[in-house]
Amino acid sequence: MTPTSPSPRKSEALIDLPSPGRPDTGPCQVGVQGIAANVRAIWNVDFGQPLEHVVTSLLAIASPQLVWSELHSLGLADRHAMIRAVWLLDGGGPARAEAHCEACGEGSEFEMDLSMIELPPRVEGVEVQLGAWTRNCRLPSAEMLEKAADSTDVAALCLGSSREEAAPWVDVVEEALAAHDPLGEIVLVGPCAGCGQMLQAEFDLKLSWVGWLRSRVRRLMADVHTLARNYHWSEDEILSIPESRRAVYLDFCDVEEPVEA
Ligand SMILES: [Zn+2]
Repeated sequence: MTPTSPSPRKSEALIDLPSPGRPDTGPCQVGVQGIAANVRAIWNVDFGQPLEHVVTSLLAIASPQLVWSELHSLGLADRHAMIRAVWLLDGGGPARAEAHCEACGEGSEFEMDLSMIELPPRVEGVEVQLGAWTRNCRLPSAEMLEKAADSTDVAALCLGSSREEAAPWVDVVEEALAAHDPLGEIVLVGPCAGCGQMLQAEFDLKLSWVGWLRSRVRRLMADVHTLARNYHWSEDEILSIPESRRAVYLDFCDVEEPVEA
């Protein structure tokens, strides 16, 4: 018998999100789960789609209570908070990035514990200031971002103005958005391994997450390919074999023929 586990379960994290369809009623808590072990579900995601589409499809696996369109219209900061939670549940480990030192030519690798990045209270919009002028600025969603060709478009969509009106506001809008979305652009700082000079390296959480999951799918596809070629089983048959047994068959294939590069 499975004991009743207290909420949230260890395999689940709770994220504050706007109530679906009713953002004015304040946040509600939505559970997200790890997905790395569920390669069969990730397998069906079309990684050839635009990045934010891929992210929405992956988040839909992690948070089955929300439908695709709800996830796609969430603010970027909320989506990044979900990605971090899934990443940590899947044991994605610390953020890692490499920096090249211009002074001594040495390469250095830096790490950061992603759980240490504190998130500001979630808001729908902020006030931005330029000289004596103040304007309301909405925080962008993935949907909005897809309609934007450049940072002026993003500023125009956030301010609800024309491109011409938004142009002088681009910098202040970008600053305000970054302040409310610290997971959107993560910069690791550390001393150069060669000369000690302080260096910076960027870590893109979203791209790293998508890339990591994509590589898991590619590995599974390579395994299916090897087994299909050796045993002439169908894709469905191969995927229905428990992973531990699949690994043994793959070992046999390795013994019989050297792995191709
Ligand atoms: Zn150096």
